[in-house]
Amino acid sequence: MPATETHCPYCALQCGMRLSPPSAEDRTAPPDGGERRRLPVTVEGRQFPTNRGGLCQKGWTSASVLAAPDRLTTPLVRDATGTLVAATWDDALDVVADRFRAVRARYGPDAVAVFGGGGLTNEKAYQLGKFARTALRTRNIDYNGRFCMASAAAAANRSLGLDRGLPFPVTDLDGGQAILLVGSNPAETMPPLVAHLAGAREHGGLVVVDPRRSATAELTDDGAGMHLQPVPGTDLAVLLGLAHVVVHEQLADTDYLDARTTGLDDLRPDLAQWWPERTEQVTGVPADDLRRAARLLAHASPHRGGVGAYVLTGRGLEQSRQGTDGVTAAINLALLLGLVGRSGSGFGTLTGQGNGQGGREHGQKADQLPGYRSITDPAAREHVARVWGVDPAEIPGPGLPAAELLRALGTPGGPRALLVHGSNLLVSAPDAARVRERLAALDLLVVCDFVPSETALSADVVLPVLQWAEEDGTMTNLEGRVLRRRAALPAPEGARSELWIWSELARRLDAPGRWSTDPSAVFDELARASAGGRADYSGLSHARLDAHETATNGADGGGLYWPVPSPDHPGTPRAFLDTFPLPGGRARLLPVHHRGPDDVLDTAHPVHLVTGRVLQHYQSGAQTRRVPELARAVSDAYVEIHPLLAELYDVAEGDTVRLTSRRGTAVAVVRLTRSVRPDTLFMPFHWPGENSVNRLTNPITDPVSGMPEFKVATVRLAVVTGE
Ligand code: SF4
Repeated sequence: MPATETHCPYCALQCGMRLSPPSAEDRTAPPDGGERRRLPVTVEGRQFPTNRGGLCQKGWTSASVLAAPDRLTTPLVRDATGTLVAATWDDALDVVADRFRAVRARYGPDAVAVFGGGGLTNEKAYQLGKFARTALRTRNIDYNGRFCMASAAAAANRSLGLDRGLPFPVTDLDGGQAILLVGSNPAETMPPLVAHLAGAREHGGLVVVDPRRSATAELTDDGAGMHLQPVPGTDLAVLLGLAHVVVHEQLADTDYLDARTTGLDDLRPDLAQWWPERTEQVTGVPADDLRRAARLLAHASPHRGGVGAYVLTGRGLEQSRQGTDGVTAAINLALLLGLVGRSGSGFGTLTGQGNGQGGREHGQKADQLPGYRSITDPAAREHVARVWGVDPAEIPGPGLPAAELLRALGTPGGPRALLVHGSNLLVSAPDAARVRERLAALDLLVVCDFVPSETALSADVVLPVLQWAEEDGTMTNLEGRVLRRRAALPAPEGARSELWIWSELARRLDAPGRWSTDPSAVFDELARASAGGRADYSGLSHARLDAHETATNGADGGGLYWPVPSPDHPGTPRAFLDTFPLPGGRARLLPVHHRGPDDVLDTAHPVHLVTGRVLQHYQSGAQTRRVPELARAVSDAYVEIHPLLAELYDVAEGDTVRLTSRRGTAVAVVRLTRSVRPDTLFMPFHWPGENSVNRLTNPITDPVSGMPEFKVATVRLAVVTGE
């Protein structure tokens, strides 16, 4: 087997990696110390601009899941006794098609729903949207990116006219004199990104806003910058306070504002209230720190003679009932400083999932068609209908966004059957105990996965699919760079690509159009469907991406940045340099207001809870909990507690505690740390069952983006040990 140049299966940094035939040492051992297993490939980092040869622990160990002992390689169908039993592909697909047809006949087409994932390749994201709308004829398709990027996407589209996570290459950050990171912890979630913060740290210009002293917040130590540690759920107010200082101290870039934006006069009255002392009362961040941070950003900005500054957001700000407004406040700040659409400065969001960017561009979202176009736009419907070979009137309208879709499952008038791809909803969805009830109320749950995740084990039919190293495709990383993912291994006997599964189901359901199983041909169709849209891939093909990588000898890492509207277009590394795709070519300053979280502190729920990720685990942990090295490093669900709070509750390191929110309870082991505020607990979300923090989280959603309020809840705490 020759070496294969590809990318990591996990996060949106899409680090470059090389897969080679395994050496004798390439073995892995289960966490209990059992027999070591041979890995199918050797993984090494390779030069690529986002990772420069480095990989995090998840990347280094990513071959382990390919050799998971419980890898699914045969379809499973639940029998009359309630047991999942092996079935042939023909039988399993017949069951799925027959029961979809039955649900559709009884309840109508919208009673069959589809839930996609931000880890699917561009080809699959595209084909799944087409499958839902033309084979199942349902409007109800959404995906787990709604739980990840929806607020950032909505805010960028609203204020800038375009959502491309980072509208500039990651390597631009290297030259930043100051970088404001709001609600993001890349030191744990995407460690190679930390190297790109080095320039700002050398200038003392890294400013991290996080209620927790995260590994990223620690990077501000020793004069490298500042950590602003607000009360959970008040980060939007911190941004308003920073913007107030910029305006009040006349640090804004007035020439830029005059030439490139609208709405400054609408912004002023609201900002006027957020003087630093008032902001301190709301957020707990000292007024002097707010002033210092705002001045630091302003003096790094080009109009003040600085080298350049960036404002970056992450899920901590975005996963909130006011997530869209939170990101809008961050964009307002960046616009006031004249950073957006200027080489060497900018605003961006750090996309989470591997194809979180591409996953939202090709039609998996309830309200969108390929090319990142509105499903209600008549011209877009006509164009896409032509590519799909259907009448525009046959394309259903917008469906329910993810959280609403999950709430509606099995209810009168709601979906009765659900097809899930690339999501482990029982662990990753908010208010997880209710999600279990809703899935149980369905007439049919079909899950496509490569390991028996918690959600797969609760399904009526499980269809085993291929993993990242076993098939070709493309991913679009957090820079909007379209990358080639390449097969390094033959498909394991028994597992199938989702492209094949949809083609077989489409045939059984008498769907119109062509259903190719060749990723390159599906990409070509996707490219045609995207033509003229915001995310225009029409100048791209697998062949062009391969040729570009060879021609540049990997010097720029390969891949091309969308939009690429023609085969001779060089791609668009930096957006907004000349204009914003909004009326008059101007970005919008939009007034936003701080409301705070939905959960409030009271005597029954006297402590804040924030949630997040750890270095060793990815999303629901369905993959990384199966990697021995990662499972050994962080094996159990834990909760971080400040020693002062622990003393109050008579809790010690290693105790097991029960947390109770207005939704339910979860159990975790105590870790004492001064990283959290004395009024706040932190619990990661990678574990299932009673260890799932998402049994506590609030499913209330942002009215604009549909994003649930994952990040902040209030809880009470009780010791379980010895109960
Ligand atoms: Fe993979 Fe992300 Fe780690 Fe890079 S940072 S190796 S893409 S998980």
